Amino acid sequence: METYDVIIIGGAVMGSSTAYFLASNPDFTGKILVVEKDPTYAQCSTSLSAGGIRQQFSNTENIQLSQFGASFIKNIDAHLRFDDDPVTVDFMENGYLFLATEKGMPVLQKNHETQTAAGAKVQILDQAGLKEKFDWLHTDDLCAGSYGFADAGWFDPHCLTMAFKNKAKSLGVTYLKDKVVGIQRTGQKISHITLESGETIYGGTFVNAAGPKAARLAEMAGINDLPVHSRKRFVFLFKCNTRLPDCPLVVDPTGAYFRPEGENYICGKSPDENNDPDCEDFFMDYSVFEEQLWPILAERVPAFDAIKRISSWAGHYAYNVKDQNAIIGAHPEVTNFIFANGFSGHGLQQAPGVGRAVSELVTYGKYRTLDLTCFAFERFAANRLYKELNVV
Ligand SMILES: Cc1cc2nc3c(=O)[nH]c(=O)nc-3n(C[C@H](O)[C@H](O)[C@H](O)COP(=O)(O)OP(=O)(O)OC[C@H]3O[C@@H](n4cnc5c(N)ncnc54)[C@H](O)[C@@H]3O)c2cc1C
Repeated sequence: METYDVIIIGGAVMGSSTAYFLASNPDFTGKILVVEKDPTYAQCSTSLSAGGIRQQFSNTENIQLSQFGASFIKNIDAHLRFDDDPVTVDFMENGYLFLATEKGMPVLQKNHETQTAAGAKVQILDQAGLKEKFDWLHTDDLCAGSYGFADAGWFDPHCLTMAFKNKAKSLGVTYLKDKVVGIQRTGQKISHITLESGETIYGGTFVNAAGPKAARLAEMAGINDLPVHSRKRFVFLFKCNTRLPDCPLVVDPTGAYFRPEGENYICGKSPDENNDPDCEDFFMDYSVFEEQLWPILAERVPAFDAIKRISSWAGHYAYNVKDQNAIIGAHPEVTNFIFANGFSGHGLQQAPGVGRAVSELVTYGKYRTLDLTCFAFERFAANRLYKELNVV
């Protein structure tokens, strides 16, 4: 009978970060298994992400998670090197800019206070300041922008996953290519998982790191109220012959975003809330680019009037429909099943902090570094929603 102390279901960025932080903690001496159905990671959220990192959140804990994420990826070689090859995630520290019209100013100001109180490297640029710093930006309708000038930008999501995974494996973590199709629960405990291959594996603690499939995993354990839905998001790569000097990741007041990607740019926009159905397919709707995004981009950056779409992809947010924030920790009725779910489009940058946090819950039964109690599942029953306002 195969048995592990910890079984992590899902081996992309969240699962692999958790595996690394557990395996590298001298206080944890158990055996760790990561079960991943697709080691190519072709369709997981992580690989299809826009790779952004910022400190402009409305909740202090999200800011702190990203601050830790930034410091971790800046020192990634020191943390995750395991052989002679240097480890990098190509961090482009170009900054992150949220733009606001007059209507958006109260929220921008309030978030700014929260961010500066948490020590975030952000500043508010008024209309003249925006024009001076980014002369390629159309600013007539803008009041100001929140500019994350350091520890912000974008990096390669797949490289981060592979760096965590390779290091975790070098520390003795076992990775298994298989799909979890059953979770056996007796009372308040999970005893074992069943795999597509027919194998049964027993464990002490189980971690749900299944991204947009998290609710399906929870259902296998008889938990039918994990509010994580799979929501489709498009990303478009386009070419523009005009360079935009010092271009950060820019979020327009409409919610549309763009950033450089090598010589080109990527962009995207979440749909309106009432037009955002649950979805697991990867079909593209090119009209989103032609009819929705391009007009916004061309209005915001006159040089984007002349652009050419080069390619595109669809990915899925693990969207927490209750308050668009992470769900971390055990379910109150199933004490050895820990969620690391529901990141609602900002999980990549949180992966180092969340992996560390989950490893603390497993090893010590409580948080030791950042207190992330605000993300506990219990908040839903207690009606203590913890809404994140800056969801891109
Ligand atoms: C278009 C897009 C843009 C984004 N942009 C950003 C951004 O700019 N910044 C940011 O921070 N975040 C961003 N995100 C969100 C971020 O990518 C995710 O929050 C993060 O990658 C979640 O990682 P994860 O490991 O939880 O999930 P995933 O990457 O989805 O991994 C889950 C893994 O679980 C595996 N799995 C599922 N079910 C099973 C099973 N039954 N058995 C075995 N394995 C299973 C899957 O194969 C998968 O590999 C974006 C996401 C998308 C889709």
